[in-house]
Amino acid sequence: MRVSRLMLVTLRDVPADAEIASHQLLLRGGYIRRIGSGIYAYLPMMWRVLRKITAIVQKEMDAAGGLETLLPQMQPAELWQRSGRWQGYTAGEGIMFHLEDRQGRELGLGPTHEEVITSLAGDLLRSYRQLPVTLYQIQTKFRDEIRPRFGLMRGREFIMKDAYSFHASEADLCSTYAAMDEAYRKIFERCGLETVAVDADSGAIGGAASQEFMVTADAGEDLILTSSDGLYAANQEKAVSQPQPAQPLAKTKEGLIDTPKQKSIEELCSAQGLEASQVIKVLIMLASFEDGQLQPILVSLRGDQDLNEVKLVNALTVERSTGVLNVTPISPEQLRSQGLKNFPFGSLGPDLDDQCLSGAKTWNPQFLRLADPTALALESFVCGANQNDKHRIGMNWSLLGNTPISIDLRNAQAGDRCLHDPKQTLEERRGIEVGHIFQLGRKYSKALDASFANDSGQQEHFWMGCYGIGISRLAQAAVEQHHDDAGICWPLAIAPFEVVVVIANLQDETQQQLGEQIYSKLKAAGIDVLLDDRTERAGVKFKDADLIGIPWRIVVGRDASNDQVELVRRANKETQLLNTEQVIDSLTKEINTQLKRGI
Ligand code: ATP
Ligand code: MG
Repeated sequence: MRVSRLMLVTLRDVPADAEIASHQLLLRGGYIRRIGSGIYAYLPMMWRVLRKITAIVQKEMDAAGGLETLLPQMQPAELWQRSGRWQGYTAGEGIMFHLEDRQGRELGLGPTHEEVITSLAGDLLRSYRQLPVTLYQIQTKFRDEIRPRFGLMRGREFIMKDAYSFHASEADLCSTYAAMDEAYRKIFERCGLETVAVDADSGAIGGAASQEFMVTADAGEDLILTSSDGLYAANQEKAVSQPQPAQPLAKTKEGLIDTPKQKSIEELCSAQGLEASQVIKVLIMLASFEDGQLQPILVSLRGDQDLNEVKLVNALTVERSTGVLNVTPISPEQLRSQGLKNFPFGSLGPDLDDQCLSGAKTWNPQFLRLADPTALALESFVCGANQNDKHRIGMNWSLLGNTPISIDLRNAQAGDRCLHDPKQTLEERRGIEVGHIFQLGRKYSKALDASFANDSGQQEHFWMGCYGIGISRLAQAAVEQHHDDAGICWPLAIAPFEVVVVIANLQDETQQQLGEQIYSKLKAAGIDVLLDDRTERAGVKFKDADLIGIPWRIVVGRDASNDQVELVRRANKETQLLNTEQVIDSLTKEINTQLKRGI
């Protein structure tokens, strides 16, 4: 390919709306263009990157026994109603784009394909003899994300590889899950990415294994916690730990203290000379459930701990046996619209009286009271007195009466001790989730009644697994992990081109001819080569080559008359002076060996 024919438009300035390096570089390098919020065009060079990633994914999925397929993106609402997910995915903060056809039938644009594939499996897989089966597809997914951002990292239209497996037993599911784990490690390694596999939240079902693959990068949206010995790694959403012990409160009698303008834990502690671990913090939230219930909740935590909303949502789903649409802090405006008096925010105690809710228009009139075990373990503490500007000191749970339900609701955090070895502590890093493998169990096969005949002729529901990779997110994550001040440094296997030949001065006939010659020879040797044949100044072409990040650059300049060219490695700027034959030989060998292509 010739740069003059490539429609290459690079930008010198950093685009104003791009916050992270990879997003800036993909825009500046002419890889992507924003069409709308969370909607991007993949320009020709980007499409080459995406096709290379796709090819690696297909190879490894095929090797692991996967069958490639392509499922419809328009999905009938009825399928999602059967699984019980239509409401949650379309109402409130639901992320499914949905529409009505000319007959008034409702459809959703596929954010994921469990419903479609499970109903197909129920139709097609009749006997245990046909199992196991793993189907996968690579296609555009649609999600009306609440905060689309960072370019391809969180788009509303993006490319995903999703796979689903069907099994006759849980043990068989576990073995495919392990094979997928292995395939994922190979895929990321072949794409030149360093990833960490972490334990991930598997929703309210619990028990089922789930792992995310994270590219570690400061710009990552996820927080991951790892033990110093490397034996434990988990997404903070899921992580468990042993917190640092609380500072015991000096023995005092139970009593009321004045705490004017001390609404936050910090304000209270600095004014009263307390440690945060001596205080009970009470959060007041409203949960809305799929069945329409609106439930006010009081959550008690130790003052030095933070609420983990994923754990809270899981706990609520189990408690009420119905899906949670969302959980948000209760505001004074909401109280007013329920016709309720304001609460003493900033001085709330775990025993806030249900009386406060009487007469509420649509809310349940009783609090659901939950507490983290670390809060319940405190023998003596300070907490709000349920009246403005007052707290209670020397309190304990029996004085408060009516003990809340004990449930793990706090975030594990850096510095906490590890459960597998309390001498190890947790460290935190940020990560970009590029893949997710998940044992679904029989949730969808039961909901959609998809079954097979086992070896004694009985009908059983399938055991299922699902396995996703964000193809377009992975491409950008690679840039986030591999770039420098001058631009992108693509890993060889997913670079749009492997080599760029830059003719320094196009007016010089010798340079031009030698450049063309090297270009043709590399092409003939099966190398993905780009020829910069533009009449731009050499400096401009070098800058562009650095920005677009092709792993190898051959500069055909003044020494062309002696058959000498410069070979530059993009990642470290290492330079060698070689003649034509040497450059072609050594590059072809190097590239073929690195990519393990037959020579
Ligand atoms: P996240 O927590 O980042 O929203 P998810 O848990 O919703 O991800 P899955 O449903 O497991 O993601 O999707 C599989 C993969 O698709 C993810 O691991 C991620 O790499 C990718 N992905 C998910 N949402 C997006 C998005 N909005 N834009 C780009 N890639 C995405
Ligand atoms: Mg998501």
